This record gives sequence, C-alpha cells and structure tokens, in this order.
Amino acid sequence: MALSAALLVAACLIPAGKWVKPALFIVPYAAAGYEVLWEAARNIFHGKVFDENFLMALATIGAFATGQYPEAVAVMLFYDLGEFFEDVAVGRSRKSIAELMNIKPDHARVLRGGKEITVPPEQVAAGETIVVRPGEKIPLDGVACGSTSVDTSALTGESAPRDVSEGDNVVSGSVNLGALIRIKVSSVYGESTVAKILDLVENSASKKARTENFITRFARYYTPCVVGAAALLALVPPLVFAQNFSDWFGRALIFLVVSCPCALVISVPLSFFGGIGGASRAGILIKGSNYLEALSKVDTVVFDKTGTLTRGSFAVTAVHPHDISKAELLDIAALAESFSNHPIAASIVRGHSGHIDKDRIGEITELPGLGVQATIDGRTVCAGNGKLMDKTGAQWHECHIPGTVVHISVNGEYCGHIVISDEIKPDAAEAISELRKQGVGRTVMLTGDAQAVAEEVAAQTGIDEVHAGLLPGGKVDDVERLLKDKKDPKAELAFVGDGINDAPVLSRADVGIAMGALGSDAAIEAADVVLMDDRLTKLPDAMRISKKTMAIVRQNIVMALAVKAVVLVLGALGLANMWMAVFADVGVTILAVLNATRALGAAKKGALPACRYGDKAAA
Ligand code: ADP
Ligand code: MG
Repeated sequence: MALSAALLVAACLIPAGKWVKPALFIVPYAAAGYEVLWEAARNIFHGKVFDENFLMALATIGAFATGQYPEAVAVMLFYDLGEFFEDVAVGRSRKSIAELMNIKPDHARVLRGGKEITVPPEQVAAGETIVVRPGEKIPLDGVACGSTSVDTSALTGESAPRDVSEGDNVVSGSVNLGALIRIKVSSVYGESTVAKILDLVENSASKKARTENFITRFARYYTPCVVGAAALLALVPPLVFAQNFSDWFGRALIFLVVSCPCALVISVPLSFFGGIGGASRAGILIKGSNYLEALSKVDTVVFDKTGTLTRGSFAVTAVHPHDISKAELLDIAALAESFSNHPIAASIVRGHSGHIDKDRIGEITELPGLGVQATIDGRTVCAGNGKLMDKTGAQWHECHIPGTVVHISVNGEYCGHIVISDEIKPDAAEAISELRKQGVGRTVMLTGDAQAVAEEVAAQTGIDEVHAGLLPGGKVDDVERLLKDKKDPKAELAFVGDGINDAPVLSRADVGIAMGALGSDAAIEAADVVLMDDRLTKLPDAMRISKKTMAIVRQNIVMALAVKAVVLVLGALGLANMWMAVFADVGVTILAVLNATRALGAAKKGALPACRYGDKAAA
C-alpha cells in the first residue's frame, strides 16, 4: 500500500508528456488495484458479475480512459486502506475470542501404572485420574480428590476464585490456583465443557442475523441497479438531450465509485462478530448473530423457578415421618434420590448424614416434573410431589410448613414427607427490575413446584405471572401459548432455565437461555444463549450488549446510505468530483469499521463487580 502511494506521488510530480503520463500512473494503479481487478475478472468468469470489485474496476478503468489518472489510483489506494482497517478490526475481535480460546488445554498429566505421564487431553479416558499442578489449566471435566481453589474467569468472566473440596465437580478450562490436585476424569475431552464451548463459539458466525441476510440480498440487487443507472446517466442525456458525452460519462463514473456498498458489506458482519466476542468475554455465549439480534427485541421473559430464580441448593428444614422413624424416612429418600441430578435430590442426599449403600438400590426411574421411583431393598419407593403420590395411590396430605415438600411412599403406602427450602438468588429482584428498564414488558415464572411456593418467589422477585404445578410438557404448552398471544409479532420471547427438566422449552422459545451452564451438557446443547455462571444479572447484561450492537449496526447502515445518497445526487447533478466520491466511499467504510469495533467493547461498560454467590453466599 505504502509503495503504491509513493509511486502515485512520484507519478504526479514527474513532468511528462501526453502519452507518458498514463504509463507512469499505470504502475501504482496496478500495485494498488491488482487484487480488485483480478477478483472482478475471476467473478465474471464465475458468472458473478455484479459485485463491489466489478464496480471498482469499471469506475477506475473509466477514470483512466477519461484521463483522471490520479483519481483512478486513489480509488484503489483508499479501498486498500479501508480493507486494512477492516483487517485490524477483525484481528482485534479475533484476539478477544482467542482469549477465550485460551481455555483450550494442551496436555493432561494422567496417572498410569503409578506413573505420571503427559499426554494430549484427547487421549485420556473417562475414569482415569489426572494430576493438575498449581497454575495449570484443568484439561478435563471430573471430580476432585482433594481440595484447592480454581479460577474460572476464562469461562465465566468472573474473577473471584472458586473453592473446590473433595468430591466437587471441577470443569475443564479453569485454572488450578491452590495445591496440586488429583481429578477423577468424568468424560472424554470431546464431551468436556471446554470442547463444547469452543465448538459453540467457533460456529457462532455461521448463523446469520436477519440484518446480515438483508445486506447480502441488498447487494445482489443493488449492484446491477447501480450499473444500470450509471449506464443510463452516461447515455441518456447525450443521446436524448444532445448533451456533452464526456461530462455525463464523468458523472456516471462518480456515481459508480460512490455506490460501492463496501461500508455495509464489511461493517455489519464485523459488528455482530464484535458483539458476540465481547459477550463471550463477559461469560455470555451467544450461538449466532440471529440470537444476538433476537435478544435485543425480547419483550417477554419466561423463567424456570428451581435453579434459575432460586439457587437450587435446598436445605432440609423438616422431616415428618408416618409410621416409621425420621432416620428411616430420610434414609430411603436419600437412597431413592442418590442417582438423580435434580437439585432437590442433591439436597436430600446432602441432608442425609449416613452412608448410602448403593447395593440396596435396584432400578431407578426419573419422572420429570414429578420425582423419582426406585426399587430399594426390593420395595418400590416413590419420592416426589403430590401428583406423584396421586399416581401411586398413596394417601398423602399437605404440610403446614412453607417450602418445597417431597412426599415419600413405599409400595404405595404413604410414609411421610421431607420439607426443604430453597433460597431466592440474591440478585433476582435486581435482575428483573433491570430487565424492565431494558424494555421487557412481561415476566412469567413456570414451575413444577406448588402454587404457594411459586407465588412467594414471584412476590419477592417482582415477577408478574406464575404458572405452577407444571410437568415439562406443560411448560412447553405454556410457552407456545405465550408465543401465540404476543401483541407485537416482532417482539421476541426468551426462556431462561437451568437445563434440568427444561431442555424442550429452551429449544421452543425464540431465544432459549441456559444459565449456570458450567458442567451441564444438555443445557449447552439446547440453548441459543448460554450464561456461564448462575448470576441472573447476566441476563440484562446480555440484552444491553445486544441492544448496543444492534444500535451500532443501524448507525452504520443509516450513515452509509445517507452519505452515499447525498454524494450520488451531487454526482448526478455534476456537483461532485471524483475525489469527493473516493472520500465518500472510503471515509464511510473506515468510519463504519471503527464504529463496528465499539461492539466489542459493549460488554465492558457497566460490568458487574466480581462478586460471586455460591456455597458461601451467606458469608
Ligand atoms: P422447576 O419447574 O421449579 O424448575 P422441576 O420441573 O425441575 O422444577 O420439578 C418440578 C417438581 O417436580 C419439583 O418441585 C418437585 O416437586 C418434583 N421433582 C422433580 N424431580 C424431583 C426429584 N428428583 N425428587 C423429588 N421431587 C422432584
Ligand atoms: Mg428447573
């Protein structure tokens, strides 16, 4: 680029005769424009005549033919400059995504035959034990044998370290901060959190937003129209009104240069790319530009209750047995729940102090939205809500203590219930009022839990509507009904869930948002947007980023079209020269690209303080 600029200056300065001058300019012209000319020629052979390369080639060759040599070179030169800016901007966005890519582990130290050997993470099997030294990246998902603390910031955007104790799940991509730790690997690399996230981010560019598709279609019709208009401009006035041909030919050339759609073609995808990159930095993974666009138009947010609005880590508050001892009731409940990954199950297992003898457990069936059924010591044990008790025919009754009640029956006989209480996430109310400020008009809670519990949570968080006692299928029906009675067809409905029992709803909503996705595979797959930790305020953050990105896209479209329209009219009227045309085109492209890079920074402003609630939130 610099070389062709120097050659251009030299060509301008060297005094030369009529025939030498074009020969001097052809050198910088070729140096700056060979790529465009080559692309234009190649596309003609491929049958794709009308693209921006063709516009440029036509305009500059025309300029050359009419003796406007420096102008012709300048068009090419400034086009290169625009491309250079684009490269820099794309490079910057890539770098931010690369930072995220930095979660990719390069080796694992696996224990085999009592020795520690270093292998690529792909070669470790589930069930093997790996060693992770302090400061190293954890290469695979697994269960900790020992305690340490880990840094999950590359995954969640959250900088406070997370404590891990013996038996806790650890996720790949986090960094071991504390002591050397052994981890029992739970899944192979291809199924690990890291592999899934990388896959998701890499593929996000392939899902195009409506705005992007519009630009592609626009360019397809636009270019032939422009070429046609330029031809008319060059031919009609001289032929019909006997005007000076070379005047009008010049105007047609200016028209061509101005109409180049580079600014749009380059800046719109770049803005989306920046928005997605910026969001991923904040621990918000958006699976495509289409979802980024949809997020900005969300006006109804539907929440799952357990694990989404509440922390989903319950404490056992009461055990009310019928005809058996408290210990016995808790014991069979814990046995029945020991294989479920529902938060309720985990809490009951945690509330049980004794040993869980897995040999006593036979067949286990999870009944989504109801509970579990298990064979224990040869007897059929059911643990779940009132609906499940009705199905088994057990004579159950309500409990006077508020909370989520898990009823237990053995061989169809009622044995009592366990009351557990969940906690509302500390930022739930704040997140919902933030969403209101972002233009969300309707908030709905769907839950499989009882009406009373659901209403209590709604009252404390400020949610408008509650639908309780739902099975997973009922949640889908409700979301479909909400989708149908949308007032504004362009407004979008988002569903937010933790991925447990709600994967079907996640995929049914316009935008399915899974939260607390560290370690939950089903959620990562079913969702369109994945929030890497369980903080609800990530939700308004995600909307803010999407709105900012869309605003940038819109600014660029309006700016590009407005500037072009003005210069086009001026050009057609003979009031603009080639230089104005060049600056209109390149200037707008550069401005648009610079503007697009702001999308990358959209996530940073107003970022949340790095506090975390989890097991130690009470502190
Ligand atoms: P939510 O809609 O609030 O997220 P779920 O759909 O996961 O809740 O579960 C709905 C209800 O089903 C729970 O409130 C509980 O009564 C019952 N349930 C589901 N799984 C279990 C389980 N493993 N043990 C006991 N009860 C369960
Ligand atoms: Mg749930």
